[in-house]
Amino acid sequence: MVLWAAGLGGGDLADWPLERRDRALLETRRALLGERLALAVPCEGCDAELEIDLSVSDLLAGLPVPSGAPVQAAGHEIALRPLTSVDLAAMVAAPEDTAADVIRARLAGPVPEAARAAVDAEIERRAGAAELKVRLSCPDCGADWAEPLDLPGLVWTEIEAAARRLLEEVADLARAFGWSEPQVLALSPARRAAYLSLARAA
Ligand SMILES: [Zn+2]
Repeated sequence: MVLWAAGLGGGDLADWPLERRDRALLETRRALLGERLALAVPCEGCDAELEIDLSVSDLLAGLPVPSGAPVQAAGHEIALRPLTSVDLAAMVAAPEDTAADVIRARLAGPVPEAARAAVDAEIERRAGAAELKVRLSCPDCGADWAEPLDLPGLVWTEIEAAARRLLEEVADLARAFGWSEPQVLALSPARRAAYLSLARAA
């Protein structure tokens, strides 16, 4: 949805390999809202709220490079398709005792019985590696953990907030100067900010 809104959509984002999806989300986020990403995360060990400041470039540099190598097991060579959001959703939706069969069938098709355990272990490893995490430690209690980032949710929330801010600015300027929305949006960001401080000081 975010990528579609940014004009980058090509097919359904949920069908993209996770690493490719995350890379595109981060690049879109940087293009629209800049390099610094501030977050508040509750500590795992105490009630403190950690304010963290991340660099989008660092997150991009830390994205895993997916392994496309087939799994060798019990004399078989089994190719695995890259994981997507749709695969993860299907796994979560399946009853717990069939989740492994569901995801294996989606990624590898039919797998000989003897090779299943090795294939399942590799799928689990790849799913873990694809999850974007940041290392955090709490100055209050010393807790140290890897916090998973829900990148689609995070970027969407930020872009929604930025859109809401822009709408409020347009409304304030239209009211203060009697301008239409296209007139306000035609202003450069610097001029919009200057008029906005005039309007809000009045
Ligand atoms: Zn703590």
